[in-house]
Amino acid sequence: MTVEVQVTPEQIQAVADTVQVHKFGGSSLADAYCYRRVARIVTEYAGASDLVVVSAAGDTTNRILAIIDAQADDLGIAEVLLRQLQKYQQGLITELLNGDLQEQLLAQSSHDFARWWGWLRGDEVITHRPELLSYGELWSARLLAALLQQQGIQAAAIDARDFLIADDAPEPHIRVPVSRAGLLNRIAPHPGTRFIVTGFICSDPTGRSLILGRNGSDYSATLIGSLVDAKQVTIWKDVAGVYSADPRKVERVVSLPLLDWHEAEELARLGSPVLHPRTFQPVNRERMVIAVRSSLKVENQQTRIGQYDDTEPKGKVLTSLADVVLFRINLSDAQLVQQFEELELVPLISWNEIAQHHAYYAYHQNHLEYLERWLEQVDKTDQVVQMQGYSMIALVGNRIQETTQYSTFKTELSAQNLRRLAFSPDNNAVIAILEQKLDNRLLNRLHSQLFNYRRSLGVLVVGRGNIGSAWLALYRRLQERINEQMDVRILGILNSTRMWLDYHGLELDDWEASFDTFARPYELSQLIPELPNAGCDELVMLDLTDSAEVAQLYPSFFANGVHIISANKRAGASRESQYHEIRTIQREYEREWYYNTTVGAGLPLNYTINDLINSGDTIRSISGIFSGTMSWLFENFNEEVKFSDLVREAKQRGLTEPDPRADLTGQDIIRKLLILAREIGLTLDWQDIQVESLLPEQLRGISYEEFMQRLPELDEPMQQLYLEAQQQGKVPRLLASFAVQPDDSVEARVGIEFIPAGDMLANLIPGENIFVIYTDWYHEMPLVISGPGAGKEVTAGGVQSDLNQLLSHLSNRHKG
Ligand code: ADP
Ligand code: ASP
Ligand code: MG
Repeated sequence: MTVEVQVTPEQIQAVADTVQVHKFGGSSLADAYCYRRVARIVTEYAGASDLVVVSAAGDTTNRILAIIDAQADDLGIAEVLLRQLQKYQQGLITELLNGDLQEQLLAQSSHDFARWWGWLRGDEVITHRPELLSYGELWSARLLAALLQQQGIQAAAIDARDFLIADDAPEPHIRVPVSRAGLLNRIAPHPGTRFIVTGFICSDPTGRSLILGRNGSDYSATLIGSLVDAKQVTIWKDVAGVYSADPRKVERVVSLPLLDWHEAEELARLGSPVLHPRTFQPVNRERMVIAVRSSLKVENQQTRIGQYDDTEPKGKVLTSLADVVLFRINLSDAQLVQQFEELELVPLISWNEIAQHHAYYAYHQNHLEYLERWLEQVDKTDQVVQMQGYSMIALVGNRIQETTQYSTFKTELSAQNLRRLAFSPDNNAVIAILEQKLDNRLLNRLHSQLFNYRRSLGVLVVGRGNIGSAWLALYRRLQERINEQMDVRILGILNSTRMWLDYHGLELDDWEASFDTFARPYELSQLIPELPNAGCDELVMLDLTDSAEVAQLYPSFFANGVHIISANKRAGASRESQYHEIRTIQREYEREWYYNTTVGAGLPLNYTINDLINSGDTIRSISGIFSGTMSWLFENFNEEVKFSDLVREAKQRGLTEPDPRADLTGQDIIRKLLILAREIGLTLDWQDIQVESLLPEQLRGISYEEFMQRLPELDEPMQQLYLEAQQQGKVPRLLASFAVQPDDSVEARVGIEFIPAGDMLANLIPGENIFVIYTDWYHEMPLVISGPGAGKEVTAGGVQSDLNQLLSHLSNRHKG
């Protein structure tokens, strides 16, 4: 097949001098609004004779593929899908065009769809998939040209199959001279017309449609650019250039102003969706520049890919593939080795394991079909072992081996299930094949380490009651300081039924109103596995509830990589078996768990105990008044007041547990006792503690409402207790204690004791807690910690103290 050039050398030169190519992908043409924006870009940022290459609108190509699949399986579904596609495409026409142009395009569209319906019903034979796929690009080229015409701009659509000729192959081979002649003949005589060309498609010499591979219109654009010898091809995307990593997976990526050809080519070869692997094949590297820029925000920075002298060794882009397949062959099959080496499709990496006589070739899962077909053709299917379940992470940049980033990359990935780490042949990338799923947190961590970005901590606030609100207020006040160590972001605020979640971070001004507006119903157990998608380096859940349900999910939080800070005592004081499970999983996943406020609210109790133990002391016993509520009740109690009135008042002041019975039965104190004992390494469970409850039997099994009504039934026994103590010159107090016995057993008790009226324990300020600690070192005189053991401000402060500790732990770990 030959096509003669019918235009003059001057015309050809004029084209080379003036014409640039612009390419708009599907995401830039997703709806009518996008089309208008693209039309504006084509008017304002493209020259009068420029070529514009377009992909199919939105996800049209995917829709077409779905229809083709359904046509083979389920005609009913195929019909529904086709109807939707028709509605979408014709909807674009009616929304964007009016008058004659609308009528004309609708008529063409109806004609096309009549053919589709005929095909679906079997009246018309279209066996060739590329022919069906071509419609996507055809429709968008026609529509954009018409839209421009409607705006008074000279424009015309061209079907690339009219000039772009190739020989069929898995990656079609372009016949350059005919294609070039065909294109020049079409455009050179019409300076001043913007031609809109279909991307993705071309034709074989007999006129059969061929496609250039998924996402192939980037390639179409550079191909067409090189046919006319254009100086620049601009690829307009939904991203402002090539970023330091995939912005869908990694937070705080930056756009790179310049990329060298080698780097861009390697990035494309490694399957980054931002550039099609063949994009660079046709490019005249000395002449052309490729710009990647945003069609959504034209004012943003762009990436220019070209021949730059910037040869400084530097890792620039972290790229990854979720699905990689390994092909293993036997090295003794020299013919097959040779065939792999000569295969047009270059593997991501390949290597030999000489001892086992194996050679490995790693490919992107997308190429599996191609490879399987090829193996069948060369009759080698049985000689190849296919291995699934791998992923790839690579760092692309010139002379990567000479960078320090390379060693960071290697160190971080060596801690993973690393199957292979190697350099690309030109030293433009270091490529790791992992025997595990791709994990976005790993990518984020790597990204921030490689590019020295501040690491981020996402915070999920569960519970928006007293403590939650107080902590949020505190957080906002300290925000700047908290953010010094890491980039801390509140990702979500949850109450028991609704959550307000935004992985980019919540805007906390007037958060209560925002919560009311934006919070949606949720299921915590379903949310947790989603959390790693938040794109933060680290995550922490603040459990500011009293919920057993939340406590039960701690293992799941840990297993999904979330650290925990609890004000909720339930997990720390759960049954020994459950506690053991929580601890095991926490350690296995190397997560942090702080719960400093569960005992003594803001008092520095856990820190003191830990510090003593870490410094070589041994705790012998701890006793005291562990409950701010009980302290308040008893310090205010005397023969003149009714105990029930005190309980009611304490409840009103927010000093009791939601159901005051948890205080009266000593449950709340038992929890604290367990937490403290476990903190110092003792094994203690509920049944090991002797408990004397203040709650009469008859008030136990009833509803909360009934209990509050029958509160006065407490008065009589409490009065008696008081008088009994008074007769001995003492006062009653609810004390808790545990002590390690000489035989290492633990004696633990919660109950009323009569305390001499002058004793320290009998003279607390209402609400005050006191912890009397005997250790090897403090054995004559105890160490005493006392102060308010409840209250939202001190508790919020304690939660913040835990968060500070987490932050310094995480940033130290990072430095180490
Ligand atoms: P098109 O609109 O041309 O079809 P695609 O959606 O196929 O574009 O590809 C662009 C997408 O590639 C971006 O939206 C972005 O999410 C993703 N991407 C992955 N890695 C990168 C990277 N390093 N830089 C920019 N974008 C990237
Ligand atoms: N429309 C084609 C695809 O979705 C080509 C492209 O978008 O570049 O693969
Ligand atoms: Mg695409």
